[in-house]
Amino acid sequence: MNYRTLHWKWMLCGAVILALGAACARGQKKNRTAGLGYEDTPILPGQKWRVHDLKRPHPRVVTPGADCYKPPSDAIVLFDGKDLSQWVSRGKGAGRGKLVAPRWKVERGYVECVGGTGDLISKEKFGDAQYHIEWASPAEIDGTSQWRGNSGVLLMSRYEIQVLDSYDNPTYADGGAAAIYGQWPPLVNASRKPGEWQTYDIVFEAPRFEGSKVAKPAYVTVFHNGVLVHHHQEIIGPMAHRAIRQYEPHGAEEPLALQDHDVPVRYRNIWVRRLGGYDQP
Ligand code: MG
Repeated sequence: MNYRTLHWKWMLCGAVILALGAACARGQKKNRTAGLGYEDTPILPGQKWRVHDLKRPHPRVVTPGADCYKPPSDAIVLFDGKDLSQWVSRGKGAGRGKLVAPRWKVERGYVECVGGTGDLISKEKFGDAQYHIEWASPAEIDGTSQWRGNSGVLLMSRYEIQVLDSYDNPTYADGGAAAIYGQWPPLVNASRKPGEWQTYDIVFEAPRFEGSKVAKPAYVTVFHNGVLVHHHQEIIGPMAHRAIRQYEPHGAEEPLALQDHDVPVRYRNIWVRRLGGYDQP
């Protein structure tokens, strides 16, 4: 066998390997099935349930009314459908934790999560605040349980109001849409169908710290599609999976974050109002 024949044989062999690899990658779909809960996680303080308890009852289903809300005159508009000028991203992979230019996709008046590019982080920081956020899980169902439309509204970048396609989607009760993730299920399940726009209206009271201790925990009131799902509920601590995290001191104001959970969840019409007391001009 001369050198030229050997060369072509190697080239042919390489091409076959590449073609097989590509075919394999095309046929390979991410496994997006997930369990429905856990029986080996910690008991939540003051509750009889474990974190993500398999046996915790599911919230009753309520069908919401029709409308959304435009920002009032004193709102800080974080996303008006045009650009991400009010946001940065928290990098994943090699640049993990670094703040970088966001790579979520803006089109047709909404922004869509591009999996693996990192959470969206607002440039502006907030403490006590009223939030309005609209979101839609993908119309096409891909996966089960926690893989269906997972994202999250991370108040102060750490206290999560779960975003999930919870329309006829069994998962653990404290992980459904509008749950205070891993702590409290919503009072009822007011979810719309996958692909439909949904609203969160949130009144958040930031925690207060004295030195390294929490002097007052965070409280949250949440309306999901106009339906009350948490009423001045105490937040146990920062979001955690299969665990309970204690409060750690942080700034009086911190950025809002939207979670990259590797699912193309969409957001639009995001605005915030800082909250003050009575008799303030
Ligand atoms: Mg989430």
